[in-house]
Amino acid sequence: MKPELRDLTREDIAAALTGLGEKPGNAGAVFMAVHRRGAADLALLPNVPERVCRALGRAFSLRPLPLPERKLVAGDGTKKMLFRFAGDAPAECVVLPAKGRDTACLSSQSGCSCGCSFCATGTLGLKRSLTPGEIVAQFEACRTEAADLKSLVFMGMGEPFLNWENVRKAIKILSDSRGRHFPQAKMTVSTVGVIPVIEELTGSDLQIRLAVSLVAADPELRARLAPMEKVYPLKRVLAAVREYCGARKALVMLEYILLPGVNDRPSDSAKLAVLIQGIPGRLNLIPYNPPGGPGPVSPRIKEFQRELIAAGVITYLRQEKGADIAAACGQLAAGMDK
Ligand code: SF4
Repeated sequence: MKPELRDLTREDIAAALTGLGEKPGNAGAVFMAVHRRGAADLALLPNVPERVCRALGRAFSLRPLPLPERKLVAGDGTKKMLFRFAGDAPAECVVLPAKGRDTACLSSQSGCSCGCSFCATGTLGLKRSLTPGEIVAQFEACRTEAADLKSLVFMGMGEPFLNWENVRKAIKILSDSRGRHFPQAKMTVSTVGVIPVIEELTGSDLQIRLAVSLVAADPELRARLAPMEKVYPLKRVLAAVREYCGARKALVMLEYILLPGVNDRPSDSAKLAVLIQGIPGRLNLIPYNPPGGPGPVSPRIKEFQRELIAAGVITYLRQEKGADIAAACGQLAAGMDK
């Protein structure tokens, strides 16, 4: 099978053209034809010389942009779309509405290998990682559905840093000035803590924002809730985050999902405050959403926030959206059975 042209960044296209004996200077026109003009036929790329089209056609395929199979709309306007990518790989993306600044939440993998116990995606296991073109297809669907798309988060299905090569390419494709030109500074990639990629980002020229899912301050509890703790302990993750913030003069978004009776005790907030002390950024508290729909919110949520603020941590409560269609944090399981 020929490689898919949609998966290539502009630099990749330039390198491919060189390899085909063509001028790399045509890469911009090829990229624009695919990613801005929506070309779906390699023989007819607007503003690209016929000879170049033929050469690309011998080496690459250009399949039609994948479209969502189903769409659900929540009472609060949140929209969830289900894709079924090649090889029966389902993945969901979500449009979170907010006046004049909608957010798209994209999946990086079909399923996830991380096995976090509180997450519906984690129960699926990993089907496969998504290609750059499949990630871009989710963006395009969200762009069509959103009134005014202003930010993009990789917080859907999958651990983006376990599919970093493809997520990085998708970020480059989406931010390219010859394509959608979506600002990298408005993109946030969330990880449960894959240290080598955090270290790579520290020295990279990408302008994206980093979010880290803390889950629990106590290592034993965290290892039970998020098995990634056994590979990359949170203490070491946060050391890498401190480096990242210092070297880039950047802020980080720390996320803490509040599981009633599990990680919301006063001792948890006290440990958490010590653990993240001095890290520049903010902490978002996220109410737990059971897989099927809205569930009981931790009665401690406000108190937990007050305890952290009293300990000097800038803390916000995240307004959850789309829980009635299982589109909120931790609920994406490709079920679409609402
Ligand atoms: S929380 Fe994120 S990393 Fe953990 S299982 Fe779910 S999708 Fe994977």
